[in-house]
Amino acid sequence: MLYQRYITSQRWKRRRLRYYKKFGRICAACGTDQNITVHHMSYERLGHELDDDLLALCLDHHRLLHRLYPHTCREHTLLFLVDYQIPELRKIGALTPATL
Ligand SMILES: [Zn+2]
Ligand SMILES: [Zn+2]
Repeated sequence: MLYQRYITSQRWKRRRLRYYKKFGRICAACGTDQNITVHHMSYERLGHELDDDLLALCLDHHRLLHRLYPHTCREHTLLFLVDYQIPELRKIGALTPATL
């Protein structure tokens, strides 16, 4: 599947909504509910993502993550959260996929 085509599709929109329903529509780093996006920790299953492939981040944290780790992956996302996730969120396991 072409990334650009998918990322603007209804299918991806529905996938995001399903993710929000399950994990909350808040940034996994700072907890805001403004300008929420969904980051791909892996593109391996593009179009058929598992919950563990995704992570909700506000636009600012999403941009920062990609600036710090241009070739972002699961490991880099985890390193990013170690540095930027507020302690209040760290206690609530449900806000991030179980594997983090
Ligand atoms: Zn944030
Ligand atoms: Zn991303």
